[in-house]
Amino acid sequence: MWCDVRLLDLILPMRCVVCDAAGEQLCRACRDALPRLAPPLCDRCGAPTAWPVARCRECSGRRLAFASARAAVAYDECVRRLIRSWKERGLRTLAAVAADAVADALPPPRATALTFVSPDRGRSLERGHHPAEQLARQLGERWSLPVLPLLGRTRPLPRQRGLSLADRRRNVAGAFAPARESPTRVALVDDVYTSGSTASAAASALRKAGARRVEVVTFARVVR
Ligand SMILES: [Zn+2]
Ligand SMILES: [Zn+2]
Repeated sequence: MWCDVRLLDLILPMRCVVCDAAGEQLCRACRDALPRLAPPLCDRCGAPTAWPVARCRECSGRRLAFASARAAVAYDECVRRLIRSWKERGLRTLAAVAADAVADALPPPRATALTFVSPDRGRSLERGHHPAEQLARQLGERWSLPVLPLLGRTRPLPRQRGLSLADRRRNVAGAFAPARESPTRVALVDDVYTSGSTASAAASALRKAGARRVEVVTFARVVR
């Protein structure tokens, strides 16, 4: 199915995936209007806060396996459209746009390698590609860091959408398994940070594989 869509992408004039203007996959105006996140942030989970805090209302009291999480942009309606096209149509240009936004917004992680949230087998085959890995590879080039596939899946992940925080945590607990030994300091890349449950479960698997410090880097973040 995605094959046909890609063929159409070649034949039809390019249109902005957000506003439908002709010309580019993401037009200049929409690119400039991306809702970039800026300090002050929660030091731990990266949520925007009124002043810098070590822990915020969103993450305090939660056991999080990562040291910090940072994102380039807030997840709004435009970003949702962009990520949907990136996922469903495999538009590589969008991976580059996302990587540019991340590299602009964030300093390189204090890590010796990047890894990515491993694809859910069924779903990634259906799409034919994997945004988290594409983003990690693009960032690896920009930050001159190797990208290592360190994580596997123990089981397919039921959909997270619409679940409460506690249910999300239960849903992802144990879903990731280390595929190989991890460097001590590693950065985990994903497209969106929603509740932190997926990032924490993946970071926990990395720590079992030898990581002492895991930084999470995402393109977008849900802001409550
Ligand atoms: Zn546009
Ligand atoms: Zn926080």
